[in-house]
Amino acid sequence: MATGHQVDLLVIGCGPAGASAARTAAEAGLSVLLIDRRSKIGDPVQCAEFVPLPMARHVKRTGTLVQTIATMTSFLPSGAQDISDFPGLIIDRGAFDRALAAEAGAAGATIWTDCRFLGWNGKVATLQQGERTVPVSARCLIGADGPHSSVAAALGLKPQPIVQTRQYTVPLRRPHTATDIYLSDRFPGGYGWLFPKATVANLGVGADRGLGPDLKTPLDQLHRDLAASGLVGTDILHRTGGAIPVGGARGMVHGNTVLVGDAAGLTHPITGAGISAAVISGEAAGHAAARWCAGEPKAFVEMEDDMQELFGPTLQRGVQCRSRFQPLWHSTATQDDTVMRHGWIAFEQYFAQAA
Ligand SMILES: Cc1cc2nc3c(=O)[nH]c(=O)nc-3n(C[C@H](O)[C@H](O)[C@H](O)COP(=O)(O)OP(=O)(O)OC[C@H]3O[C@@H](n4cnc5c(N)ncnc54)[C@H](O)[C@@H]3O)c2cc1C
Repeated sequence: MATGHQVDLLVIGCGPAGASAARTAAEAGLSVLLIDRRSKIGDPVQCAEFVPLPMARHVKRTGTLVQTIATMTSFLPSGAQDISDFPGLIIDRGAFDRALAAEAGAAGATIWTDCRFLGWNGKVATLQQGERTVPVSARCLIGADGPHSSVAAALGLKPQPIVQTRQYTVPLRRPHTATDIYLSDRFPGGYGWLFPKATVANLGVGADRGLGPDLKTPLDQLHRDLAASGLVGTDILHRTGGAIPVGGARGMVHGNTVLVGDAAGLTHPITGAGISAAVISGEAAGHAAARWCAGEPKAFVEMEDDMQELFGPTLQRGVQCRSRFQPLWHSTATQDDTVMRHGWIAFEQYFAQAA
């Protein structure tokens, strides 16, 4: 990093989006400062740890594979099950985030942990380290600070619509290679999941805050049901949770400030999957920052067009599906398998509707 806290690029947030942005920009020769408010990158893990197969090269490179997934079993309200091909990987998410950060560091990015973003006037960012306030001048800034992005707030953007989640890690009693999805009005605006991770499983529920604020009751019920079936143990080894943005993409580019990953709303509004989009958008923004600093004024806007082309239709379909379902939750309609098929990505009915 250049002296006097002046950098080409300041990246806020060292999740998959921020670390990927910092790495690609540093590889392209920019001076990069990557900060995170956490003391230990990737900790605590707030994730069910599934990534789709196209992420395999990142998983292999980081050495974070735990097990493979072959199928998805979707459980409908009547108890009917549908099995679909759903190849993917379960990763050690904490190790994955730390490996991506280490790659950014190896490429030349400076990393500050325990460092919080407070504000940005387009030229100078205000950061907080302990009791100290630290000004950092930057030519451009990437906000990769997750669903409740402070960078987006500093830009004057509204908070994103959120699905709230709660997850237990529990012992897994037998080998399992499916991601299990529970579709029910017990999880309005969301779903329940069991993602196997070798000898344990991430068992969680997500629901729309406005529709079902108590997540503990349905999660405990799901846990009891699956323990009674013999699939999981009764112990709770770890508890986590967190927010998932479900409003779809919001503007990524704001002059010399760019949002990526969850901060940009690139997370799938139905499945909540966002690791892949975080890595892809982070890498793209890092490349664009290098081009922009090299005097290509359209670099960020072109990057946003590419991301819109890549993620726009999928996100749009998800947002429209959510708004169609909004008035149905807590009505008898969501106890109907046929209705629920329209709301989940494993079923052709989901894709049959106009986006
Ligand atoms: C319970 C749960 C389960 C999930 N399961 C999956 C899954 O199985 N597969 C999947 O693909 N996706 C999953 N997701 C979504 C996925 O975790 C996110 O999409 C992904 O983490 C987005 O990466 P990101 O880098 O954009 O943001 P994050 O990973 O959220 O990283 C943001 C970083 O910014 C830091 N930060 C925030 N504010 C500040 C600040 N003011 N100053 C400094 N640093 C700051 C945070 O500490 C954090 O490290 C899940 C989410 C939850 C909540």
